[in-house]
Amino acid sequence: MAMVKMSVGRLGTAFDLPRSKIENSMTMQKGTIDVKTENIFPVIKKFLYSDHEIFLRELVSNAVDATQKLKTLASVGQYKDELGDLTIVVEADKKKKTLTIRDRGIGMTQEEVEKYINQIAFSSAEEFVKKFKTKSEAEANAIIGHFGLGFYSSFMVSKKVEIFTKTYKKGGSTKAVKWECDGSPEYTISEIDKKERGTDIVLHIDKENEEFLEEYRMRELLNKYCKFLPVPIQFGVKKEEEPIEGVTDKDGNPKTRTVEKPWIINNTEPLWKKAPADSTDEDYKNFYRELYPLSFDEPLFNIHLNVDYPFNLTGILYFPKVKQNYELQRNKIQLYSNQVFVTDSVEGIVPDFLTLLHGVIDSPDIPLNVSRSFLQNDNNVRKISGHITKKVADKLEELFKKDREAFEKKWDDIKIFIQYGMISEPKFYERAEKFVLLKNVENKYFTLEEYRKHIESQQKDKDKRVVYIYATQADEQYGYIESAKAKGYDVLLMDGVLDAHFVNTIEQKLSDSSFVRVDAETAEKLIRKDDSDAPSKLTEDERKQVKEYFEKLVDTKAFEVKAEPMSESDVPVLITQNEFMRRMKDMSAVGGGGMMGFGDFPDHYTLIINTNHPAVLSLSNKDDETREQTIRQLYDLARLSKNLLKGKDLNEFIRRSQENL
Ligand code: ADP
Repeated sequence: MAMVKMSVGRLGTAFDLPRSKIENSMTMQKGTIDVKTENIFPVIKKFLYSDHEIFLRELVSNAVDATQKLKTLASVGQYKDELGDLTIVVEADKKKKTLTIRDRGIGMTQEEVEKYINQIAFSSAEEFVKKFKTKSEAEANAIIGHFGLGFYSSFMVSKKVEIFTKTYKKGGSTKAVKWECDGSPEYTISEIDKKERGTDIVLHIDKENEEFLEEYRMRELLNKYCKFLPVPIQFGVKKEEEPIEGVTDKDGNPKTRTVEKPWIINNTEPLWKKAPADSTDEDYKNFYRELYPLSFDEPLFNIHLNVDYPFNLTGILYFPKVKQNYELQRNKIQLYSNQVFVTDSVEGIVPDFLTLLHGVIDSPDIPLNVSRSFLQNDNNVRKISGHITKKVADKLEELFKKDREAFEKKWDDIKIFIQYGMISEPKFYERAEKFVLLKNVENKYFTLEEYRKHIESQQKDKDKRVVYIYATQADEQYGYIESAKAKGYDVLLMDGVLDAHFVNTIEQKLSDSSFVRVDAETAEKLIRKDDSDAPSKLTEDERKQVKEYFEKLVDTKAFEVKAEPMSESDVPVLITQNEFMRRMKDMSAVGGGGMMGFGDFPDHYTLIINTNHPAVLSLSNKDDETREQTIRQLYDLARLSKNLLKGKDLNEFIRRSQENL
């Protein structure tokens, strides 16, 4: 048989011989992939190591494309024959060490193989490899999707690849052909006898990649990449019980036999592709389970996205119940491109606060073979991200307006999203301002507007500022809450993970307002008024004296001591914590920009002696020892009520109290 050297490359014209000569001379031809270019095969094999498994996605998507194209041709009348069974079959043969991907799509003529496989696919793979090579491994891994390597990704796992293909076209030079390449720049192409229309890609799996011949591994990968592809994909068979017609057992029940049925691994019509109007609550719940089979929780509600202008986007986002942070991490949003799984790390594509949601986004308009930093600046991606944010806000507003009570019930589960969104996305803040809820210690919910009106009426103050008094731990701050309530103040409960940041955000937005935690000041001074100071029963000098008594016994590194008149019925000694310093510490604990370092600060408290309290007033009449005893007791009681009395000090306090029984 005559052999003719051919080379293939970007230009696709680098044939050593004129085409007519090649066609006339033989049934089998041998060629060299463009000798002028570098040999990319070793690079494909070695360099793209971490993502070997994506070859399967690339080949199965090609098979799906070829099938979809045929369906389109049939629908417009350009293909008139039977379509037949279009199922794509994936087959692993452990003995022969081959993996076959078989479709009944449009197939290729010899000319098309030369054009699409040898030239176009090769040069785009070459380009992809070059891009990859200039990047560090970290950067390379950051190229999400990795679309672009295409057909040649098969060489990541194969020592030889064969294509057997027969076009749907009739007449002319439409004979079936076989293309074969062993991962060197040489390939052969020959005419073959193939009856069925379509393409078989046969991979001769190399030694290092034999895992891909294992059934469990294939199932895992098909499940990951192909679960929602639009054409049925079969891998292996399933055993099923089938009634035998006309045969019954002695009780009259139909007898069954075990039959093997093709195992279709995908759902070709995932819910996100359907019209929202045709989908029920039950459908959404079932689909959630399909997406996350290992999840026991039901989502709270969902948003069905469906846009076709100015970009294409479909998807379903679920609001999960937030219990533990690790659960948020487990079920991630999955990104698809025309039902092909791309990635489950969507950072940069959707705003950060929405990465806490679960579900799917499918958009062919997201550029997938670029790095994330590029992605964030991409116009289309910005539009998509903005659109998703708007949709989420719409849905939340709708839920709020439709059924306030139900919304309040869900509040504790969804507040983390809403607060995170308000903190990080100004556009979302504008929308959420209307439905974000505040909860007070009586478990009543208010919108910002409602709450402002509520406290404005009872907490008039001279500054004209609205002061929001809040607690972060209802139990630990019980005493402080009670004192504030006794003064007629309403106290909000701000005990969520993000509340420290959230307080800061709304304070910035509502410029005439400030937030003060119940233990930041004495109840008198939580809201500053000109007449805040209670009349004092001690002179200035006497107060100084009391202060000195205390300073001898108190840990003055941790406590700044002050002697101030409060109401007689208030506690004798109160510990407060500066609002600003405490907040910085709280925020750095949650993790926040610019707050680094505050976490290392020691806590700093103020110890306020109520110079109107009888126990304090009586100090000067006591002998030194009794006075010291009393001060220790007062100091410990104050620390106890702020949960600051621990270890040795606590033990001594208990012992002392028992002795006095
Ligand atoms: P892409 O799919 O991005 O175009 P590929 O390298 O995966 O790049 O494939 C190159 C071309 O080879 C395809 O565009 C298609 O024309 C052809 N091709 C690949 N696989 C098949 C197939 N199974 N059936 C028909 N044509 C195919």
